[in-house]
Amino acid sequence: MLRHGIELEISDKLSEYNQQLIKKYWECEKKTLRYKYSIQSLTNRYKFCNEDECEKYVARHSSAIITDERICCSSCGRRIIVKLRQELNIAFEKGFKFELDCRNCMDLSIDEIAKNVIDSIENIIHLEYNFLFKNRELSLTYLEKIYLYLISLKCQVNEYGKLKKEIWQDMFITERADKNFLIKSLYDKRVIFNTKKNDEIIKIINENSKFFLKKSHLIDLEFRNKYQKYRYLFLEENTFLNFDLNYESFNHMFEELRNQFDYYELDYLDIKEIREFILEQKIIDAYQLISNIQKYRPIPIEKSIELDCVLVELVEKYNLLVVNSLLSYQADKVALRLYNLEHAQQRDRDPYFVNKMFITRITSYLEYCKLNNKIPSHIRGIGPNWSYTSLEYFVSKSIINEGLSWTTFSGDELIHKWLNSEKVTIKPDL
Ligand SMILES: [Zn+2]
Repeated sequence: MLRHGIELEISDKLSEYNQQLIKKYWECEKKTLRYKYSIQSLTNRYKFCNEDECEKYVARHSSAIITDERICCSSCGRRIIVKLRQELNIAFEKGFKFELDCRNCMDLSIDEIAKNVIDSIENIIHLEYNFLFKNRELSLTYLEKIYLYLISLKCQVNEYGKLKKEIWQDMFITERADKNFLIKSLYDKRVIFNTKKNDEIIKIINENSKFFLKKSHLIDLEFRNKYQKYRYLFLEENTFLNFDLNYESFNHMFEELRNQFDYYELDYLDIKEIREFILEQKIIDAYQLISNIQKYRPIPIEKSIELDCVLVELVEKYNLLVVNSLLSYQADKVALRLYNLEHAQQRDRDPYFVNKMFITRITSYLEYCKLNNKIPSHIRGIGPNWSYTSLEYFVSKSIINEGLSWTTFSGDELIHKWLNSEKVTIKPDL
């Protein structure tokens, strides 16, 4: 029986007879687990002049790979290869104490080994994740900074920048990330990024986990941190904040962001972006109102450029409650008109026609108001199931300091309040 925990590799150039010698060299008694043949007896049987010669022959033509899971190189984690019985004994003895190094590693310093591991991981990722290595200014706009702050505040970010999955997924929905150009822009600027599970890297991480654990106190901090970071990044799919080339730690970034919002100097682009963002959010709100209205009135109104323009006009001038009342009222009128059409002889329910009817009604109503100096003032609640974004809460409470949501402000009012808040100043050269 071959000795436990090893696997033989014998040169296939040897004759069957000489291969037998090597197998016998490693053969054990089943019961006692002792070697079956003494080196002396093999020397005599195979006619070597002495034991030394016999072992030299074995060593030259074969190796024994230690397959026992517990024994591996304490530095690189690779399997250990031995040539002789004596070597095997030492390997087992040292291996269990985690003091064993393979031939490769014995020639390298601890930091060289650590660096090799990091290099091999970075070789795999450097094309797809090159932003992890480039030290560059984040150059974020005011609103992007607010979003980064809110994400940092909410998502229980760990020291490697990992966002807590469930919270981020939830936030992705509540902040309408699919339509939110700020979150998209944070992704484009690689401040937020997603990782994929990478089997090649997982293999390297697993092979070296013992080394980084046991030799941790001897390894340069930079390598240790990188190793931990890559472990987090590529073990499974996750979302991360990429800050560590610009800040020493997550807390450092967080503090700096928070301090910035106390007195922020807005430039021209920031102001333009605030305006665009508010209108975009309010248009999304308005479409949500239309979809709520459609739940009770089967009128097919679809998104269109014309409707976009009408809604921009509405949300700029009127608050969401007024907009809701106005949309509902006109939807009722359209529904009634459709009902009448359907029950008349001419059955025209062409969807384009309905869209146009709805848009035309709102347009002519707004024209009527303008000509008569009337301001629509009827309001209609938006219902208890409305979802408010965290940015809306944050801006209402921490910047505008009025109310909790944007519902009661028109777009224009909101922009005015924001730009006149004591938390912001506008850059003087404007
Ligand atoms: Zn090694």
